[in-house]
Amino acid sequence: MSYHLGIIGNPVEHSLSPILQQHLLEIVGEVGTYEKYLVENETQLDRVIQRLRLGELDGINVTAPWKTAIGIYIDELSLTAQKLGALNTVKSVDTKLLGENTDIFGFTHSLMRSTNNSLPFENVVMLGAGGSARAVLMGLEQLKCPKLTILNRTVEHAEDLVQQLGFSGEVKIDSLIRKTLNQTLQAASLVINTLPPSGRKTFHRLQFPEVNQREKVYYDLVYAKKYLKIAQKAENAGWQIIDGLGMLIYQGIASMEFWLERDVTGKIDIESLYKKLDQRR
Ligand code: NDP
Repeated sequence: MSYHLGIIGNPVEHSLSPILQQHLLEIVGEVGTYEKYLVENETQLDRVIQRLRLGELDGINVTAPWKTAIGIYIDELSLTAQKLGALNTVKSVDTKLLGENTDIFGFTHSLMRSTNNSLPFENVVMLGAGGSARAVLMGLEQLKCPKLTILNRTVEHAEDLVQQLGFSGEVKIDSLIRKTLNQTLQAASLVINTLPPSGRKTFHRLQFPEVNQREKVYYDLVYAKKYLKIAQKAENAGWQIIDGLGMLIYQGIASMEFWLERDVTGKIDIESLYKKLDQRR
């Protein structure tokens, strides 16, 4: 069988998913195509849904701004996608559409791998409370993070997030202003930045506290090099940095497993895949 896969979003041009997914198809010995589809409005979304129902497309990844809006077209949502209220993977099976969210898997597995499973959970800070923060919060819950501080421009959005998804650990919520950010960074063991580039003005002239042996970790969900200046600052101050490329890789592997219904993770050399994508970003 030849798989017809793709990614929808707006914008979608910058996406590394085609290189990633073509590589995964090759590694598992499957043949197929993986295209980018710019979807700017509901009419174009309808067209893609139609192609999935007709079996012209076997599956798609979904990126912003469609992760929530596509939900109404899906016949069966996984429990994770239901709880999160967003999905990033769709599969067509006999005209039925199945929806899954693999961002949580992407986040948890990239974090575990980069920290050799010794999660720096003494004092975790999450910046932002948007779409990707939902997946991060659920991931931290799965990893049994005991204590979390969330900083966000709109405090109520962070409160809503915790209320909707639930969190078993202790949670503190504060507003994202330079003062709270600086104070929080001093005590943090792991900082997870889920903010889009447009939400990062508070970081201008920000100082990361110096550490000696990379005992603090800065995890940035963004992976485009031009947006990784904050990560550079953290690295210069001695922090271990993790960028969004690992999350992209693991969510992509989980999507491929969802489409093919078999193991892909065990066949992948993550280091060489990371290097391959690193050259293209
Ligand atoms: P959202 O648009 O949902 O982010 C919303 C968040 O940004 C809210 O916390 C919002 O605050 C805040 N925000 C927006 N504008 C501003 C501003 N001007 N000032 C302060 N805060 C602001 O984005 P996503 O969560 O979907 O994505 C965030 C990033 O994560 C993107 O760059 C995306 O590419 C990346 N990402 C990476 C993945 C990967 O695999 N590596 C997967 C998913 C996302 P408020 O609540 O106050 O409005």
